[in-house]
Amino acid sequence: MTIPVRTLSDTRLSQGRWLRIPGPTVVHPDSVRAQTCDLFPHRGKQITPFMLGLYEKLRTIHRTNQRVLVWPGSGSAGWEAGILNLISPGDTVVTTVVGAFGERFAQVGEIFGADVRRLKVEWGQGITPEMFERALDEAGDVKAVFITHNETSTGVTNPLRDLAALARARGALVLVDAVSSAAAMPLEFDEWDLDWAFSGVQKSWMCPPGLMVAAVSDRALEVAKANPNPRFYFDLVTMANAAATGGTGTTGALSLFYALDAATDAMLAEGIEEVWARHDRLGAHVREGLAGIGIQVLGDPAFASSSVTAFLTPNGQSAEAFQDRVSDESGIAIATGQGPLAQSANRIGHMGWVEQPELDATLEAVGRAMRV
Ligand code: PLP
Repeated sequence: MTIPVRTLSDTRLSQGRWLRIPGPTVVHPDSVRAQTCDLFPHRGKQITPFMLGLYEKLRTIHRTNQRVLVWPGSGSAGWEAGILNLISPGDTVVTTVVGAFGERFAQVGEIFGADVRRLKVEWGQGITPEMFERALDEAGDVKAVFITHNETSTGVTNPLRDLAALARARGALVLVDAVSSAAAMPLEFDEWDLDWAFSGVQKSWMCPPGLMVAAVSDRALEVAKANPNPRFYFDLVTMANAAATGGTGTTGALSLFYALDAATDAMLAEGIEEVWARHDRLGAHVREGLAGIGIQVLGDPAFASSSVTAFLTPNGQSAEAFQDRVSDESGIAIATGQGPLAQSANRIGHMGWVEQPELDATLEAVGRAMRV
């Protein structure tokens, strides 16, 4: 099978920046190059300083002085590893369910035996602090909360800082799905007193899929030490001990680590606050652009995401047909909606290595495709 790849004619845009789905995203050219570097022994004096440097850069980007760990895997590994280490069967957890990924977080909690209390809102809406406070009060003795920071299926960002503060005031651990928010929008791990915030490097980290990155608090590590759940590969304590001395637990995914290292260099050269501001600007630009061509952006503007925008598919077309039309005419890949929005909404990803010109090209392509 061959995968057809068409690129835009403009030289800047032709560097593969046609991928406008909300992950995987366009891989940064420095990450592409870094992956081609020679491998060296995965233990010992060459890898140790390299890994210590990478862990330090990841701490800077997560705004933490605690630790950031990396496992080969996709974002979903973050649900499993967090829950396995921090939650015991029967623990009560409150989860924010505002779309497909929030629901999956809840389901993984149930698979591992948690007593999951879903705080659910209509797709397109987000969770207000008032709703969250009520849900916490109703749940009683809450061991932890599961918060989806940015719901990729709907383009909704929950007010993580405020929700986390309410949970921490009750002594609950805060587990955060930051898969489509980390490295795109403010995520102040230490200041917001979070315990577990995970992401996948195929999103705003500008890398190919294959690594799960998770910031872990000292408090979480203590909880993990006392947690009797059987585990090996995802054992937090083993991984934290290995990372403390520049190790990787098991055989490191060296080429992906090189890619991630190069991507973090690019982010830090831009400045993490500038990275957040760029995403914020681009999110607003996409929403305005869609509104300008008469397309209805999905969801409550109060929760609008700066990494992904969902919109109602125009002219009664099916989302799949619309996505294909955009791609056939321009070579630009956008996504369909998910779950109940699978046929009625499409999504544009604007996270990672992206600037306004390729989003303008996307908006133009969407505008052309709606004129059927
Ligand atoms: N959580 C969110 C918010 C996501 O957007 C995704 C994937 O898109 C996941 C979790 C699952 O990540 P993965 O597909 O990398 O396993």
